[in-house]
Amino acid sequence: MAKVLKVAELGNAVLRSPTSPIENIHSPVVQRLIDNLIYTANKTNGVGIAAPQVFESVQLFIVASRPNLRYLNAPVMAPTPMINPQIVAFSDEQVQGWEGCLSVPGIRGLVMRSREIEVLYCDRYGKQHQKVFTDFVARIIQHEYDHIHGKLFLDRVESTLDLMSDAEYHAQIVCG
Ligand code: ZN
Repeated sequence: MAKVLKVAELGNAVLRSPTSPIENIHSPVVQRLIDNLIYTANKTNGVGIAAPQVFESVQLFIVASRPNLRYLNAPVMAPTPMINPQIVAFSDEQVQGWEGCLSVPGIRGLVMRSREIEVLYCDRYGKQHQKVFTDFVARIIQHEYDHIHGKLFLDRVESTLDLMSDAEYHAQIVCG
């Protein structure tokens, strides 16, 4: 049975550690990790989660877009595991957007990301995909991709003036 995994928080070295590619996607250990990551993302209302956030230094994350108050048109995606992903192209066009992170509880930050990206990744069956993603989903993927490279969204905030508490975010941004 899937379980909610403990999430590493800001300051824990695992969030800054190098990761290894996954060699045996079919192994029960990897398949169980994927199930538990999906379950954890669902239970915590996350739109994405990366393996280093649950103390596993491997190149795997889950993308689970769904519409929210800021991104009303965000597509509903079945939770999609991306294994050994590589972003092979970033659009020059960039957009700012608010991000939060399960590993940085209570804080939101305004982050610039490419509006469109092209990603090469393996699915949980070992099949390779090369796909273009835009807008909110592209933002999620870039955020999760940072996690497997030891980066957090805080590293990309241009100014501390672009940080907000969750409560202020909900009061100002959602209702504003
Ligand atoms: Zn995160």
